Amino acid sequence: MKNKIVAGNWKMNKTFPEAEELLVAIAEGLDDMPLETDVVICPPFPYLEMAADVSEESNFSVGAQNVSDEKAGAFTGEISAAMIKSAGADFCIVGHSERRAYFKETDEVLAKKVKRLLEEDIIPIFCIGEQLAEREANQHFQVVEKQLTAGLFHLDAKEFERVVIAYEPVWAIGTGRTASPQQAQEMHAFIRGLIEAKYGTEKAYNAYILYGGSCNSKNALELFSCQDVDGGLIGGASLKVEDFIEIINAAETCIKND
Ligand code: PEP
Repeated sequence: MKNKIVAGNWKMNKTFPEAEELLVAIAEGLDDMPLETDVVICPPFPYLEMAADVSEESNFSVGAQNVSDEKAGAFTGEISAAMIKSAGADFCIVGHSERRAYFKETDEVLAKKVKRLLEEDIIPIFCIGEQLAEREANQHFQVVEKQLTAGLFHLDAKEFERVVIAYEPVWAIGTGRTASPQQAQEMHAFIRGLIEAKYGTEKAYNAYILYGGSCNSKNALELFSCQDVDGGLIGGASLKVEDFIEIINAAETCIKND
């Protein structure tokens, strides 16, 4: 039996006191849950240390939302993997579609970021997913295959087993237009098949492939029940305590029913 992972991506939201309030509320919500799901909270950089402090008394892990592809030095405004680690984060989102689109992050840069994170023993949550026009042109498998191979397949098998993948169709992110369970399952099975061809059956089975894109308390159970969906990367709904806890509950239900 495999656990699920539910990760919350707060994006660029919340002031310091608001972030503290939300962290404490989530910790309280998780308090009486004997969790089998791995919960990860990815707040903005300034709140990583505070999140790590709160997590010590709770049962969630902390992740960053981005990292520099450089190790250290004269890169004003950048944040290194070592800094993230020393602030208490064990995960980091890489290649989110917003970073690919607005900050022009290329496959090459993302592949480097993944390496930097692994050097610091941080688990990358590597995002892949097609745009609406690409799905409509029936190119979604091709696009996802390219992102996966260019971003992760430079890793050796030992490195690869420390990576989490998030399939996030861009047309579903923040739009309220969720992929259907059939669409999610089809793509997740395709991704697992690519991993199997590259790294073998065991690594493919063990790989975590999360779904992201307008996942909420209403649709999480159906999505997480799909055979190849190992949990979710949650944006908007991770900012609302009750919704986020309900999504975690959906993951727990799936683990128990497995
Ligand atoms: C995300 O930003 O990774 C995401 C999945 O956002 P949302 O859940 O809001 O669609």
